[in-house]
Formats: sequence, C-alpha cells, structure tokens
Amino acid sequence: MDAFPTSRGSRQAVGDTPSLRSRKSRVALLLVASVLSGCATHRGQSLADLPAKHSVRAERLVIHSDSPIEKKSPIITELAELRLDILSTLNLPESKRPVVVYLFRDERRYTEYMRERFPSLPVRRAFFVGTASELAVYAYHGDNLATDLRHEYTHGVLHSSLKNLPLWLDEGLAEYFEPPRDRHHVNEEHVARLAAAVQGGWQPDLERLEQLTSVGEMQAMDYHEAWAWTYMMLQSDNGDAGKLVDYVHACKTEALPQRLSQTVASTLTTGKTRLINQITSLDSGVKAAEGVIPAAFERPSAGKASLE
Ligand SMILES: [Zn+2]
Repeated sequence: MDAFPTSRGSRQAVGDTPSLRSRKSRVALLLVASVLSGCATHRGQSLADLPAKHSVRAERLVIHSDSPIEKKSPIITELAELRLDILSTLNLPESKRPVVVYLFRDERRYTEYMRERFPSLPVRRAFFVGTASELAVYAYHGDNLATDLRHEYTHGVLHSSLKNLPLWLDEGLAEYFEPPRDRHHVNEEHVARLAAAVQGGWQPDLERLEQLTSVGEMQAMDYHEAWAWTYMMLQSDNGDAGKLVDYVHACKTEALPQRLSQTVASTLTTGKTRLINQITSLDSGVKAAEGVIPAAFERPSAGKASLE
C-alpha cells in the first residue's frame, strides 16, 4: 500500500511547514480484519482493564471512566448538543446505536491498554473504533480531551447511521464539528496551514483526496484539505451544501457511492477557486495566537515518523 500522497502540491505545502513534520495524523479507525486477528493473539492473556469504575449514560452516549463524571458535566452537555448539530446539519435520522466512550484517567493507562488491545495500531491521542457490535471511543483525561471527544464522537455519530463514508469525508466532517461551537466550525490551524500552502502555489484536489483509503495515507495536509472542502460546501449558499448532504445520505447503504467529485463535476473547477478564496478570506480574520492543535494530530511528544 502506498504510504504517501502523490500530490506534488501537498508535498510542497507540508515541506514548507517544518513544524508539522513531527506530527502524525490521527483518524477514526473502522476496525478491520487484520486488527481483529491481531486482537485474537491476546486471548487468554491479561489485558489492561477498560475503564469501568464509573459509568454515565446520556441518551445516545455512554461513558465508562476511571474517574467520577457527573451526568450534568459540561462535556456531556456539549456532546449531546454536538450530536443534534450533526444530525440536523446532515439531515440524518436518530440512530439507536450509542457511542461508548472509554475514558482513561491518564495517558499512561490509555497507552498501555491500546498497546495491548490494538497492538497493530500506531500511537495516537485518541481513537474511534467502529465494529458491528460497538461504536467505541478511547481517550484519556488531558489538556485536549474536549477537542478529542468532539472529533471522535463525531465519527461515532456518523458511523451510527452511515456505512460507506469515504475516509476523506469522514475526517472532513470530524474536523468540521471538532471546534467549540463559538468557533463556528473554523479551526485556525487548518486555515493558517492552508493559507501558507496557497501562497506557495498549492491547489486543492478533491479527486486526489478521494483516492485515500487508509489511515496511514492521511497526512496533515490531507486533514486540512478535507476540512476545507467540507467547510466550503456546508457553508455555501450555491446548492453545494445540499449536494454534500445528498452524498452523505448515499453513504447509508452497503453499496459504494459514486465519488463526490463526479457528483459535483460541473462545479469542481469553480469550487477550487472558491475554496482558495475562502481560505484567504478566513485567514485574514484569524489571529495565529488563537490556533489550537486539531484532534487529528497526534500529540507532538509521541511523534516517531515524519510526515514526509
Ligand atoms: Zn478522525
């Protein structure tokens, strides 16, 4: 499997941002057979325990945690609002499937569990793992918890009713719903990186994004661009928002939907121009100091591989 994007523009953009090289991207992971077989090797062994000391259930959200968590805690309220926001934005029906969050007390315990339970997975700050039996989020208490939960819970809500969401759109939507509500779906990190790339001659390329099918292929620039296409379409008033929602609905079934770029082919060229103009416009209103590290990026201290 190819490990890296082939877009020259993307490579140049990433190469122009050395601070990103130590970050590895983190995405939702739909559990695959290879992971399951890896887990099977642990049968009979003593795994690190899942958080189970405290449990809270709030509508379609279940949290099992090491530490006490109040049902009226701000993060539970926020995730409940986020779910409604996702469903209304995408006109999706309520699903009966809950998203189960396993909240570890600290990074060390989380890392130990993930290493034992999912030995083939790379080190990441949090994970969404969707299987036929459970939509699970694994995370730990830390400075980025709220950001991580918004991102991973979005994956969970999406996967509760969609079966064939392309990787780029899965991540684009998670990035779109990741910022706090008062940011209005804008993450300054994405805007700043894309604006710098645009200045360096980068061009958006939806068809290239659509060819990414595995976690390992997703680079930081791919997350930026996935957010940008999602943001531009959902915020548009030219009909693209409806096209994107229709496309998401086509992902409800087992059959693979047509690529979105084929669906919006007639507007794709102007879409690239609009995307660049929107990034430039957003960048002019963004202060660098307000930037936060998107949940899709691994914590810097754990970086082992560069982005190139
Ligand atoms: Zn993700």
